[in-house]
Amino acid sequence: MSGEESLFTYELMESTDAVRDQIKRCEGQHVQQAVFSTYMDTLTQVCFTEQKIRSTILWDGNRSWDASKE
Ligand SMILES: [Zn+2]
Repeated sequence: MSGEESLFTYELMESTDAVRDQIKRCEGQHVQQAVFSTYMDTLTQVCFTEQKIRSTILWDGNRSWDASKE
């Protein structure tokens, strides 16, 4: 991280399980929030400590990674 800017990086995760694993890794170490969408069946983690957003949501078409494979 450089300077005083706070820029979150978006990381597309391949599955909700991958996001869950990451949430477990951050648990107790980092400040984080997790959001699950029953509508899109997607999971999103925001880690404030790492300034990363990890999610299964694709920007393109607003669909989840899993749904795109079906
Ligand atoms: Zn973290």
